[in-house]
Amino acid sequence: MHCSEARTAVSARVDREELPPGTTGAALDAHLRGCAECRRWGERALRLKVLAEQLGMR
Ligand SMILES: [Zn+2]
Repeated sequence: MHCSEARTAVSARVDREELPPGTTGAALDAHLRGCAECRRWGERALRLKVLAEQLGMR
C-alpha cells in the first residue's frame, strides 16, 4: 500500500465512511504499523475531526 492510499483510507475511517475499494482495514493497519509518517498524519486527521465536532461542524 502506498502512503497516498493509506491516507485516503485513514481519512475515510476518521469520517466513519467505508474504506476505498480494494483497501482493507488489515492492510491499512499493517501500513500504519510500518509507517510513522502516516501514523502521525492519521493522528492529526483524527484530532481535527474531534475539534470540528466539538465546534459543531458536523
Ligand atoms: Zn505511509
